[in-house]
Amino acid sequence: MNIDSITNGVVIDHITAGKGMRLYELLGLDELDCSIAIIKNVTSNKMGKKDIIKIDADIPVNLDVIGYVDPDVTVNIIKNGKLVDKHTIEIPELLTNVIKCKNPRCITSCEQELDHVFKLTDKQNKIYRCLYCEAQAK
Ligand code: ZN
Repeated sequence: MNIDSITNGVVIDHITAGKGMRLYELLGLDELDCSIAIIKNVTSNKMGKKDIIKIDADIPVNLDVIGYVDPDVTVNIIKNGKLVDKHTIEIPELLTNVIKCKNPRCITSCEQELDHVFKLTDKQNKIYRCLYCEAQAK
C-alpha cells in the first residue's frame, strides 16, 4: 500500500501523539485483514506531533470509540482517491461495548450477555462511569 494515497478508505488524522495504538486496539483494527498503516509522531504545524491511522478499506469506523480515546481527531473518508467526507468528533455521552467494567461485583461480570455501557458523568475531566455499578472507567 502506498500510504500517501488511499483510493477507498478511511484516514484518521490529528490523533494526539501516542494515542494511535490505543485507538487501533479499541477500534478492533487488528482483526481486519486489509492494509492498515499507523504512522506515529508525524510532525504537525498545528500540534507539534501527531499520529495518523490509514485504513485501506471502505469500512465503518466507530466514532464513539474515537471520541472516547481522542475527540480532537478528524476522520476523512476517501472514495476514488478523493476526500468525500470529513467528520469531526464529539465526546460520546454513552459508550456501549467499547470498554469493560472492571468491578468484579458488577452485574456485567456475571451476566455475560449484558452490554457494557458507560455514561459520561464529567465532560470536563472525561470521566465515564459504568451504568450498572457506577464504577469509574480507567
Ligand atoms: Zn459495572
